[in-house]
Amino acid sequence: MARLGQKPYRATQLHEALYRQRLTSLDQITTLPQPLRETLAAEGYIIGLPEILQTARSIDGTERYLIRMADGETVETVWMPDGDGGERGDGSEAAAEEEASEGLEGNTQPSAPRKDLRNVGALERNGYTRATICISSQIGCAVNCQFCLTAKLGIKRNLTAGEIAGQVVAVLSRHGVKIGADRINLVFMGMGEPFLNYDQFIASVHLLVKPIGIPESRMTVSTSGIEPSIRRFANEPLRPKLALSLNASNDQVREQIMPITRKWNIASLLDAIKTLPLGKREWVTFEYVLLGGINDQPQHAREVLDLLSGMKAKVNLIVWNPGPGIAYNQPKPEDVAVFQKMLIDGGMPTYIRRPRGRDIYAACGQLKRTVETTSPGSLVSIAPATA
Ligand code: SAH
Ligand code: SF4
Repeated sequence: MARLGQKPYRATQLHEALYRQRLTSLDQITTLPQPLRETLAAEGYIIGLPEILQTARSIDGTERYLIRMADGETVETVWMPDGDGGERGDGSEAAAEEEASEGLEGNTQPSAPRKDLRNVGALERNGYTRATICISSQIGCAVNCQFCLTAKLGIKRNLTAGEIAGQVVAVLSRHGVKIGADRINLVFMGMGEPFLNYDQFIASVHLLVKPIGIPESRMTVSTSGIEPSIRRFANEPLRPKLALSLNASNDQVREQIMPITRKWNIASLLDAIKTLPLGKREWVTFEYVLLGGINDQPQHAREVLDLLSGMKAKVNLIVWNPGPGIAYNQPKPEDVAVFQKMLIDGGMPTYIRRPRGRDIYAACGQLKRTVETTSPGSLVSIAPATA
């Protein structure tokens, strides 16, 4: 708008039309004068939402979408509706996140009927009190973690801030979600490494907070550990909560499963994380994918406790989700239980993340565009260094 010699309020009107009203053609933006709309069209601007091409629905209510961007490239986005109560106290991450965010907003009575009925959202009408959207930040991923299916795509390109936020708007529209009436959490845990697309990721956070209206306290970004980006992130005035995919208790094991550790080791990542100015009710989450026989033994639990001692942290254990062409094993249930108990006994709040949508390939690390998983011969088998 500035480039076209327009006043700043025109940009606000455009944001309003794109992100609140979710209009899909320039003609519909009647708040902008007709000649301005014509100028925009003549300059080649088009507006619209990324298109949901395919939907897969899990027995647990999770939905996975294949979403197409304007240039035809696709990403995957996941919708996880949650009922109230069912998850509470079972150690699921959703419950923990929820409690933390409620504390942040000073609202400890989420079910109190504080809104008038006209303002009851689409989620509540369907028996849910919240939902989490898992969004992608890149098409593919360059990081090459050995246990992750997304890694097999390699990196195609970065998503723009509009494309990252656009996934959210497309999914909100599909479900008729009203921001303000419905409680939406966002996790940047889909395809890609957000901290290798840092500027667009942060710009998307600004779009999601301001025109779209989702508070940053309801967002969590997960990184495989890009040290310089963690340091930049620590200085952001507006930022989500942070999760680090720790996944190993020492550099030797981590190098095998996450080769990026050779560039930034665990100590350097923890040093960077310690510069993060944490809010009163904010914790850093450490995700830990349990791979049977590799990182799930008692000595690993003891090492994790040593690494994280003194930090305001919590641990999310994720049982590894299998994928074609990946030669790891799931951990034994009794090893998972011992691992969690050792961490809790050591004073570390530790949750086991409930797998969501495993039956539709929507769980952590399983996102790999359907179009590719179904075409024969597209999978390259990379044996992990440890197998
Ligand atoms: N690239 C970022 C965010 C996306 S991955 C990151 O790596 O943090 C989100 C989470 O899924 C990470 O914690 C990752 O370690 C985990 N993950 C990857 N593949 C997995 C798999 N096959 N099973 C379970 N978790 C997996
Ligand atoms: Fe990329 Fe995250 Fe998968 Fe690693 S776990 S390959 S960083 S998406």
